[in-house]
Amino acid sequence: MSVNQQAHTGPPYGQPQPGYQGYQQPAYGGQSLPGVPQAQYGAYNGPVPGYQQPVPPQGSLRAPPTSGAPPPASGASHPSGPLAYSQFEHGDVQNGIPASAAPVQRPPASQPFLPGSAPTPVSQISTFQQYGPPPASVQQLRNHMAGMTIGSTAASAPPPAGLGYGVGPSSYPPTTGAPRPPAMPGPPLPGQTVAAPPSSQPNHVSSPPPPSTMAGLHPGPPMSGLHGPPPPTHPPQPGYPMQQNGSFGQMRGPQPNYGGAYPGAPNYGSPPGPPPPPKRLDPDSIPSPIQVIEDDRNNRGSEPFVTGVRGQVPPLVTTNFLVKDQGNASPRYIRCTSYNIPCTSDMAKQSQVPLAAVIKPLAALPPEETLPYLVDHGESGPVRCNRCKAYMCPFMQFIEGGRRFQCCFCSCVTEVPPHYFQHLDHTGKRVDFYDRPELSLGSYEFLATVDYCKNNKFPSPPAFIFMIDVSYNAVKSGLVRLICEELKSLLDYLPREGNMEESAIRVGFVTYNKVLHFYNVKSSLAQPQMMVVSDVADMFVPLLDGFLVNVNESRTVIASLLDQIPEMFADTRETETVFAPVIQAGLEALKAAECAGKLFIFHTSLPIAEAPGKLKNRDDRKLINTDKEKTLFQPQTSFYNNLAKDCVAQGCCVDLFLFPNQYLDVATLGVVPYQTGGSIYKYAYFQLETDQYRFLNDLRRDVQKEVGFDAVMRVRTSTGIRATDFFGAFYMSNTTDVEMAGLDCDKTITVEFKHDDKLSEDSGALLQCALLYTSCAGQRRLRIHNLSLNCCTQLADLYRNCETDTLINYLAKFAYRGVLSSPVKTVRDALINQCAQILACYRKNCASPSSAGQLILPECMKLLPVYLNCVLKSDVLQPGPEVTTDDRAYIRQLVTSMDVAETNVFFYPRLLPLTKADVDSDSLPAAIRNSEERLSKGDIYLLENGLNIFVWVGVSVQQGLIQNLFGVSSFSQISNALSTLPVLENPFSKKVRSIVDMLQGQRSRYMKLIVVKQEDKLEMLFKHFLVEDKSLTGGASYVDFLCHMHKEIRQLLS
Ligand SMILES: [Zn+2]
Repeated sequence: MSVNQQAHTGPPYGQPQPGYQGYQQPAYGGQSLPGVPQAQYGAYNGPVPGYQQPVPPQGSLRAPPTSGAPPPASGASHPSGPLAYSQFEHGDVQNGIPASAAPVQRPPASQPFLPGSAPTPVSQISTFQQYGPPPASVQQLRNHMAGMTIGSTAASAPPPAGLGYGVGPSSYPPTTGAPRPPAMPGPPLPGQTVAAPPSSQPNHVSSPPPPSTMAGLHPGPPMSGLHGPPPPTHPPQPGYPMQQNGSFGQMRGPQPNYGGAYPGAPNYGSPPGPPPPPKRLDPDSIPSPIQVIEDDRNNRGSEPFVTGVRGQVPPLVTTNFLVKDQGNASPRYIRCTSYNIPCTSDMAKQSQVPLAAVIKPLAALPPEETLPYLVDHGESGPVRCNRCKAYMCPFMQFIEGGRRFQCCFCSCVTEVPPHYFQHLDHTGKRVDFYDRPELSLGSYEFLATVDYCKNNKFPSPPAFIFMIDVSYNAVKSGLVRLICEELKSLLDYLPREGNMEESAIRVGFVTYNKVLHFYNVKSSLAQPQMMVVSDVADMFVPLLDGFLVNVNESRTVIASLLDQIPEMFADTRETETVFAPVIQAGLEALKAAECAGKLFIFHTSLPIAEAPGKLKNRDDRKLINTDKEKTLFQPQTSFYNNLAKDCVAQGCCVDLFLFPNQYLDVATLGVVPYQTGGSIYKYAYFQLETDQYRFLNDLRRDVQKEVGFDAVMRVRTSTGIRATDFFGAFYMSNTTDVEMAGLDCDKTITVEFKHDDKLSEDSGALLQCALLYTSCAGQRRLRIHNLSLNCCTQLADLYRNCETDTLINYLAKFAYRGVLSSPVKTVRDALINQCAQILACYRKNCASPSSAGQLILPECMKLLPVYLNCVLKSDVLQPGPEVTTDDRAYIRQLVTSMDVAETNVFFYPRLLPLTKADVDSDSLPAAIRNSEERLSKGDIYLLENGLNIFVWVGVSVQQGLIQNLFGVSSFSQISNALSTLPVLENPFSKKVRSIVDMLQGQRSRYMKLIVVKQEDKLEMLFKHFLVEDKSLTGGASYVDFLCHMHKEIRQLLS
């Protein structure tokens, strides 16, 4: 055996390159309809050269399929078939998975990194940079001990390289990121880096607040909105009428285009209550989400994230980066609240930092990254630990010359099966280490044997059943015709596996109102046949042969059926619908066909017709803010829970498209979709002309996206911690197995871990997520993701390796589940308390000694208060009057399976000044903070949160811009009924539409576009998303909330 000390000249694996010899990649062969944005990853805000998102056809009912082959989805672009994998000899490798956190020598990237990750051009940042905190230096960012301070002694006892946000009795709010000595701007303190000259400093010098500044904040009156609506005695907020009347932002703080007005904003953010006159914090001096996002993008977006090192914190979800798998799962699959977890449960309890992983097992990857390889261990199945059944992975330790291996999870020693035996090199590593994905990669798949199949039988390919409500409203709105027209072409784009020429998925059709109509679309028939089942009390499927068919074989009959359905029900007077029997019918059909599958149900109303699962209207807004509010989120009958259980057992996943004109009880109708791993889409007051495009895009994507069926997920952990709690759209019949009838590429499962023993710094902690599922072609597989984390005995290490976006994802899900069983106020208070404890623990144990007047935040968590406030103000936890009960139930379920990127933009929307966009480049304009004072009435802005896109137009926007974007000659002529932007041939229009298309392509749902004119009625809706401001429903402003958190932390410390 040769021992070769040479360093590598290239990575043994990584981005698209020769694959593992003999390992196929289970490329998802999903097919793209033209006009359907597919990529949901990609640049958050970075320029994306080469971005070629197809521009959706405007105004056409549907996009006809192209005659040629559809563009392959991400997977299909990889080289297929066996490729020469390894250019390295056995034993020629040195850079395995390091056991410690010591950095390994990173091999050079095998491919040039995506050039699109270049930082946003400086010129575009300049619009807000002069006001916002300047970018911290790399040095500052790397110093995770840095704390933010708000307090009198910020200058005298600053944390090392701290970002000071000091407002002290003898100080004033600096606008730069560096702590200032009292009274006068001075040179930076030793060890500090002043990131930028204090350009706006003179403004502050002229008006230093009196010494009581902070004192007024701590013992002051309760912050409005933090514990419900403001007290009755609370004077009207002077800010609001003003905002509505056009003196937009003038009396507020520093604002672009208004000249530095600081601190002439007496009303902004003022706590309610008596004088003394409020001394506000300068919003520019408190941690800015935009700045943190921008800094991470600049610091980490330029090189690939290589997963070889244990416990590495990945770049933020808002940073565009490539991942190279070198033994740990990509952050696209797993993100953790912390990558360094306390060794003992006492430490964990003390910190109150939840230990959780947000797992997206079937995440879509950008085309530059490699899909998991498929490994076949032969007839005996994947090699596993004898005791805990963990799957072979890079952390297993081979011993006795390779004849046995010791489990990294439970330490049990297992014999290596003869067919899997291989010699070890001098380091104890198998010589085939790099030939085997399961030994060298963080993520891979195993081909499952028949032992992993239900009833010891390999599964049949899954089926899709389309179930269309044909009651009066559905027909009259044009919905039925729209769906039928769309299906005619969409059926050619069902998910395919790899190189397969056609999809293996069979399809079936049902229509319903009070009764169900089944259709025989057997290929031998000249015309489809309808069979009516009117006895909905005991649902059965009236035909077996001819109900589920192959699309190509039955093409003519299906086309005929889809032509006839709208005609057959054109004159219907039937307004009542059933719902549960529809699901039962789909379930029975799949049972009869002995396969898993998905039901696509298109439904319009509360199912009040006499049938199992019949519902009554029980909406009652008076319950809000009472102890009974939780019932609004609970199903009104347990019938659907039982039905969901049966569906999961069969692998019957339900996707529900709702088109309500009034309350239809999403909390109850959503139970089955939710527990089967399905999705709910909701189009309230559906109107053909404004909503069809959004609905069709959602439908196309939903039908085409990668999905695994009949799935079971288990997360194994090394000794010392274990998975104790799970959040997401799934069903659990025991305490360890997460069951999903279907799991698509957008769904995440959040898993919480608790200690059951001590951990050691040496061995760290390991997670292995194993997902058993049936592919779209009916192949049974296991997808494995492994992740190694560090363990610490010092709390500072925990706080240095946290990820706030993931923390917020977890906290939101935890709170959104809490409202099912506790009063909303209790849930909100618990959230605030937990976060205060997290920050107080840091303050007490990790921050430098300083006066109690300081608020010190860990660098990695400095956005925790602002994001937490957004969660608290969200519609589920603090609904405004315009938010319906169905909206809240819908959002609650939606958030529960969101990934970290989705929760990030959902809670803190992205706000882009469109008028600052460079029409000659591919880049996006630099985002700005979500506050009204950042808006200029001479500009046009875009705000997106994953569900909506607002285009806000200021009253003073130049007439030329209005003409270019809307094709009308004045502000007053802009229609706020627009659901798309007009297609105009000028650079500004093209640029804005390309930005909108790009954002649509990044999100898992097609966002609703809403044009909002400043001072228009709709503006209230838009302002709801300016989350740094005080909300009309009593939600605190960021500044107020930060002060409130500070008060809570002080109470905990005293
Ligand atoms: Zn084991």
